[in-house]
Amino acid sequence: MIAYDLQCINGHSFEGWFEDRKAYDAQKKKALIACPVCNSTSIARIPSTFAIKSSNPLKEFSDHQEDLENIGKKIADFVEKNFDDVGSNFAKEALKMHYGVTKTRNIRGVSTKEEEKTLTEEGVQFFKVPMPEVPDTDA
Ligand SMILES: [Zn+2]
Repeated sequence: MIAYDLQCINGHSFEGWFEDRKAYDAQKKKALIACPVCNSTSIARIPSTFAIKSSNPLKEFSDHQEDLENIGKKIADFVEKNFDDVGSNFAKEALKMHYGVTKTRNIRGVSTKEEEKTLTEEGVQFFKVPMPEVPDTDA
């Protein structure tokens, strides 16, 4: 069995368990996967998440009712072009900006749950966005 992080078209995220990836694809195709909150069968898989910090929230993406995977791709493109990749230093860099040690800029990177807790406690705002086309590491 594998667990997938899933999200419906209305933005509810939930976890789904499947025999394997094929089972997920088959059930998705037959609209057998429904959101437990709103019962929507427009479901997209969230392969993984990473954290970004921006001085300009990505408002333009929230207005569209497009396929979630499509939006994810657009965000990925946008982030890739406009955000500095700081990798696992995300929390450190975000805190430096928060305290004015470095100039505020758009950064992206990965953070641990613990680091995210610290950022939240320090009042640092950041976003987590789904990243499409990440190699499948479930197997
Ligand atoms: Zn829903």
